[in-house]
Amino acid sequence: MLEISNLSKNYGQNHVLKDVNLTVRQGEVVCIIGPSGSGKSTFLRCINLLEQPTAGKIYYREKNVLDHSLNVSAYRQKVGMVFQGYYLFAFKNVIDNITMAPISLLKKSRAEAEEEALTLLTKVGLANKKLVYPASLSGGQKQRVAIARALAMHPDLLLFDEPTSALDPELVGEVLKVMKNLADEGMTMVVVTHEMSFAREVADRVIFMEGGYIVEQGKPTEIFENPQNERTQKFLARYL
Ligand code: ATP
Ligand code: MG
Repeated sequence: MLEISNLSKNYGQNHVLKDVNLTVRQGEVVCIIGPSGSGKSTFLRCINLLEQPTAGKIYYREKNVLDHSLNVSAYRQKVGMVFQGYYLFAFKNVIDNITMAPISLLKKSRAEAEEEALTLLTKVGLANKKLVYPASLSGGQKQRVAIARALAMHPDLLLFDEPTSALDPELVGEVLKVMKNLADEGMTMVVVTHEMSFAREVADRVIFMEGGYIVEQGKPTEIFENPQNERTQKFLARYL
């Protein structure tokens, strides 16, 4: 579904991504772990075209994503992203936050968009919050609204960049639960996370990045129980 080859990204002399290769298949959950500054966010931002890679190829369903003729907004409808911060519109209530893009970009009627938004809010456990404003939600609730908003665009693939790392510990679980449900429903996901228990339980494949390289990848049991690379071992030792 997504094929990335020899992807590199430089910021001046800073080589942040070096020859990264990754294939994501339909329905797969790929978790990316690695130390701060290893290039995880830059990698996701390149996939979503928030950054222009310096070199390499990205193909999504056999289409060249880096071709200048690509319709970027249509691509981002299919490949959605959920960030660490929630970026909800502060002056719009929850349901309007979710329906804005489907109405303006997918040309849905307000009634249809709202009905669907309510279904999504129910799914993330927030149907009772549909009329409140983001300021009165907890961090975990905001992130669940952000996930519902991403789902309202019917993405094929969702990228998550540390979706729980801005949250108080007691709010992390509710967001991870929503993500696990999505994975169980077959959503294709690439998740940058420091939540090792989530990666262990939900990922089909775990990728360890360091210094702009994919150092090691494998099934969660392989990476967590029997890491081959010394640097993976060292990184994981901090989480024991
Ligand atoms: P963290 O776990 O802290 O989020 P990360 O693995 O997501 O780290 P990135 O944010 O991708 O790491 O950053 C990788 C490197 O790229 C860092 O050295 C960072 O300083 C650099 N970098 C990131 N964005 C930019 C930018 N817009 N301009 C210049 N350098 C950048
Ligand atoms: Mg990051």
